Amino acid sequence: MYDTIIIGAGPAGLTASIYLQRAGKTALALEAMAVGGQIRNTPEIENYPAIAKISGMQYSDDLAEQAKALGATIKRENVKSVQLVGDVKTVVTRNATYQAKSVIIAVGAKSRELGVEKEEDLFGCGVSYCAICDGAFFAGKAVAVSGGGNTAIDDALFLAERCSKVYLVHRRSEFRAEQIKVEQLKSKSNVELVLGYTVDALEGEDCLQGVVVKDKQGGTRRLDVSGLFVAIGKIPNTDMFQGQIDMDDQGYVVAGEDCKTNVDGVWVAGDCRAKRIRQLTTAVADGTVAALGAVEYVRG
Ligand code: NAP
Repeated sequence: MYDTIIIGAGPAGLTASIYLQRAGKTALALEAMAVGGQIRNTPEIENYPAIAKISGMQYSDDLAEQAKALGATIKRENVKSVQLVGDVKTVVTRNATYQAKSVIIAVGAKSRELGVEKEEDLFGCGVSYCAICDGAFFAGKAVAVSGGGNTAIDDALFLAERCSKVYLVHRRSEFRAEQIKVEQLKSKSNVELVLGYTVDALEGEDCLQGVVVKDKQGGTRRLDVSGLFVAIGKIPNTDMFQGQIDMDDQGYVVAGEDCKTNVDGVWVAGDCRAKRIRQLTTAVADGTVAALGAVEYVRG
C-alpha cells in the first residue's frame, strides 16, 4: 500500500513525487510513455524562472533524476483502469495492480487531430504530431505546420532551422502564441504564414505529397510539402476516469486552485486540470499543491 500513486510522470507528476519524497511518504509514479510527457517534445524552454534556456528533453531527464535521487519510484506502465472511490484506491496496469491511500492524476493531454481524410493513413509518412521527434526526417524539404498556439510556433521555429521551407497554416490572423515567438518566426526568411486557412485535404497514397488548404470563402491553395506537423491543441488523457470524477465538457478534471477533486483522497495536477493557463510553471505549481494536499490527507 503506497501513500500516494501519481498517474503520469510529466512536470506535474514528477514535482508531486519530489514533494512526497521529501515529506517522507511512499509514492509510486506511473508513466505510459517517457518521463516528462509533452514538455519532452519542446525544443527550447525559455520561460522557466532561473533557467534561461534548456531543451524539453534535458529538463525532463533532470527532473526525473532529481526525483529518483530523493528515492522516488517511477515505473513505465500504462494504467488501464482505476477505482478511486473509498479509502483504498486501486490502480491497474497491464503488469500489476497497485493500491494507495491517495491518488494524484497528472496524465496531461494528447495531440488533437485535424480530422481530415487520410490523416491516419499518412501518419508516420508525412503526417506528424511531434516536430522534435520527426523533424530530422524532413531536413532540406518543405513542410507545413498547422496551428497558431505556442506549440505550432515552437514547431515552426524548430523546423525552419532544418527544412528548406516552412508554411505555417493558421485559421485566424491572430495568434494564441506568445508575441515574442511570433516575431521570431516572422523574421525567418524560409517561413511563410498562411493565415485564414485550414487544412482541407492531404495528397499522396503511401506518403504525403501535398496539402490543400482552404479559406473561409472556400478558396483553396496547394502547398507542395512532404511533411505536415499538426499542432492544434490537446485533448486530456482522462478517459479512464470517466464516471468516477467530475470533469468539464472537454474532459478536463474539475478542481480549483487546491487541485482537490470531488473524490476524497484524489487530486489533479497539470494540463489535465480544468484551468485557463497551461504552462510548465503552472504544471509544477499544481504538482506542489496536489502533493501537499495528499500529504495532509494521508497524515489524517
Ligand atoms: P493551443 O494553445 O490550444 O493552440 C491550439 C491552436 O490550434 C490554436 O491556434 C487554435 O486556433 C488551433 N486549432 C484548434 N483546433 C483547430 C482545428 N480544428 N483546425 C485548425 N486549427 C485549430 O495549444 P498548444 O499550442 O498545443 O498549447 C497548449 C498549451 O501548452 C498552451 O497553454 C500553451 O501556451 C502551452 N505551451 C507552452 C509552451 C511554452 O511556454 N514554451 C510551449 C508549448 C505549449 P485558434 O487560435 O483560432 O483557436
